[in-house]
Amino acid sequence: MRLPRVLVPELGEEIRLSGAEAHHLLHVLRVKPGRQVVVFDGLGLEAEAEVVAVSGSTVTLKAGQPRPVETEPPLEIILYPALLKGDKLADVVRAGSELGVSRFVPLVTERSVPREMGRAKLERLRRIAREAAKQSGRALVPKVEEPRELTRLEPVGFGLVAHPRASASLSRLAWPQTGQVALVSGPEGGFTEVEVEHLRKLGFTPIYLGPRILRAETAPLVLAAAAAALRGL
Ligand code: SAH
Repeated sequence: MRLPRVLVPELGEEIRLSGAEAHHLLHVLRVKPGRQVVVFDGLGLEAEAEVVAVSGSTVTLKAGQPRPVETEPPLEIILYPALLKGDKLADVVRAGSELGVSRFVPLVTERSVPREMGRAKLERLRRIAREAAKQSGRALVPKVEEPRELTRLEPVGFGLVAHPRASASLSRLAWPQTGQVALVSGPEGGFTEVEVEHLRKLGFTPIYLGPRILRAETAPLVLAAAAAALRGL
């Protein structure tokens, strides 16, 4: 069985945990002294560790040599999904994290219904990214950034924008070997042609994802899966 993965603030020989991670270890995994786990720092390093003491709500671990985790794709995948209604971004962040996305930047677009994201929702998305990183064995905890206006995006080296009326298709794309890929997808009501033109000028290629219209929470995952399948696996 795979060892439980524990996110720690810092790697070191002795690690003392309290708070949410200790709670998880004590009350969900019910660890006892002697239990082996893997600790990781969310920045690319992990180490094997053993629980050496449990007292009250504190867990003490003894950790071995840190080593780099090799589960990160060679391309840095940055996903820019439009702000979506309800809880739909939670699914995008969860599955996107499993697929290797390293940064999520929700976009405020012309037709986005929600225009902002509250603190609580942002924190929840960050928690989902942490959990997905742990569960999928990633070295990095993907970042979830504050929403940004589409008009404030910077030029990119390689970028795609999913657009049902685009002519380029995924199968013909020449993906870069290394570096970053920026992937943009639209809100429930789609992008305006002005927005697509603006993105094109910033270096994003409009891309067609097939003759079926995908839901706004499916399209960003198709882009992320394509990047993962073609360059990241
Ligand atoms: N009625 C809208 C569709 C919105 S679907 C329109 O005509 O644009 C929500 C988002 O998912 C779109 O903005 C686009 O980014 C993406 N999307 C859905 N289906 C797609 C497809 N077949 N090809 C490319 N992008 C697609």
